[in-house]
Amino acid sequence: MQVVYTPAHLGHDVTVETVMGVEIPANEVAERAEIIRAALDADGGFERSEPAEYGTAPITAVHDPGLLSFLEVAWSEVRRQGLNGAFLSADTYPNRSMFEGMSDEAIARLVREPEHAAGRAGFWGLDSAAPLVAGTYVVARGAVDVALTAMDLVLGGATAAYGLCRPPGHHAARSMYGGYCFFNNAAIVAEAITAATGERVAILDVDFHHGNGTQQIFWRRGDVRYVSIHADPQRQYPYFLGRADETGEGDGAGENLNIPLRAGATNEEYLEATDRAVEAIAAVPGSVVVVSLGFDTYGLDPIGDFALTTDVYHEVGRRVAALGRRLVILQEGGYHRPSLGENARAWLRGAEGRPFEPLPAVGFTASGSVV
Ligand SMILES: [Zn+2]
Repeated sequence: MQVVYTPAHLGHDVTVETVMGVEIPANEVAERAEIIRAALDADGGFERSEPAEYGTAPITAVHDPGLLSFLEVAWSEVRRQGLNGAFLSADTYPNRSMFEGMSDEAIARLVREPEHAAGRAGFWGLDSAAPLVAGTYVVARGAVDVALTAMDLVLGGATAAYGLCRPPGHHAARSMYGGYCFFNNAAIVAEAITAATGERVAILDVDFHHGNGTQQIFWRRGDVRYVSIHADPQRQYPYFLGRADETGEGDGAGENLNIPLRAGATNEEYLEATDRAVEAIAAVPGSVVVVSLGFDTYGLDPIGDFALTTDVYHEVGRRVAALGRRLVILQEGGYHRPSLGENARAWLRGAEGRPFEPLPAVGFTASGSVV
């Protein structure tokens, strides 16, 4: 399988983030992608390629051009406005209740993007969990290029391709970034596939978190089926979307399938959910599945609460590939660094129908560094 990767992701150099107002060492760090790259290189069965450049048109096909413009200038605005800090994060968000009683027309006319960089971050952002730094825009654009290059490998005839995207994308909605995500790599690819082929596309999201952005983008679309297995939002981010009764509207009615799982979900429960998800995809036509691949479902993940082990990733990859459709596999989350490389290898080898043996040649320090 081809692995699309660029070292340009290192420019999104995030070191700290905030959780409930408390600054902590960042989870979504450059080392994540480096660990996965090193493990796939060490495997010997994957071939690496560099992304091509696609420009902004595929991005604005799913995102508000205003979001792109904001992200492009956000860091230079931080500096121009003399704001200090390791990253840009808002402290004020336009909570819907702020506008209670106002008509949709009045909101559209009167609620505007402010000038202050933190205000703009609040206008376009979901939360304080997506630290924006000097290199973020360029790197987020690079992740989109990685995803689209993987897509083109598949549209060009490959059975599957893996885009080692960083930053991830599935929390980014049409007009919103958040949750470590800036552009929705999977949604951009799904949109580009429908445009290129005229076919229906399915997105299978197996990150620990619900892909609220992907759901939002395709909520009313009849040509993109979104199927997600994730932590119940009653207890986990993104809290306000991801429940089982969110099924789409209009042309998209019935095209959105959320499978929320309990804390402590086991391999067995996860495989049952996988079978349900795969069935829902098999039920509609189409030849390509976009996979939002996350490993924050792993038992030791610092921000997840499932109990999965490495073996189950191999089996999930195998069952998804058994659909017989071509796979554009895009990296989303996964924050337990010591296991990331092996989990990725297990999943991708499963998707290729190759057996999985743990690789003793790749070791890790206590901090998760490749040694
Ligand atoms: Zn996640």
